[in-house]
Amino acid sequence: MTTNIVWHEASVSAAERAALKGHKPCVLWYTGLSGSGKSTIANAVDRKLFERGCHSYVLDGDNVRYGLNKDLGFDDASRVENIRRITEVANLMTDAGLIVGTAFISPFVTDRAQARSLASADFIEVFVDTPLEVCEQRDPKGLYKKARAGEIPHFTGISSPYEPPAAPEVHLRTASLSVEEAAEQVVQALVARGVLNVR
Ligand code: ADP
Repeated sequence: MTTNIVWHEASVSAAERAALKGHKPCVLWYTGLSGSGKSTIANAVDRKLFERGCHSYVLDGDNVRYGLNKDLGFDDASRVENIRRITEVANLMTDAGLIVGTAFISPFVTDRAQARSLASADFIEVFVDTPLEVCEQRDPKGLYKKARAGEIPHFTGISSPYEPPAAPEVHLRTASLSVEEAAEQVVQALVARGVLNVR
């Protein structure tokens, strides 16, 4: 535990940053099965935000495990620590005024509740709701094939559960939406919440 540290107040306020950027900060917490479309949709939203002149960034599950979280495995304690670090990085980014998208399976209700409780900005849970059969058919990384062959233990949807959110702020049923339509639904949710201005 760190002791003898004192929080230093920032000289630029959150409201001043939001005024400069023309939008409010928030966390878009995408959750869903592997292959459901979290990264694809988060990046499509990021592109749309960029084109509107917003300052945004996507923290992608795999990418974060290449660097910041490369010391973490997939056991219970590592999973909790993974979420804690991601949430703290997202907090730094929202403090800087960004709209942050996080694309992690985050299969357990308790982990997402932890992320929500630690978040210092508006927390928007985006359920990327894609049936297992569709994810398995897409299998963009060939992981379902490996999981079915017993090569990946604790694989969400196959040998480990996915607990769907009961009341996500945004619910994307991707089986009947294009990537473009799903991304637009997220952007419209940001407009409705006052994160972005109406166009
Ligand atoms: P995740 O990040 O959830 O593991 P990815 O975004 O990596 O999922 O992969 C989803 C795959 O499904 C991509 O290859 C994407 O092009 C494809 N896909 C097809 N239709 C859709 C859709 N409507 N929404 C999102 N992804 C889709």
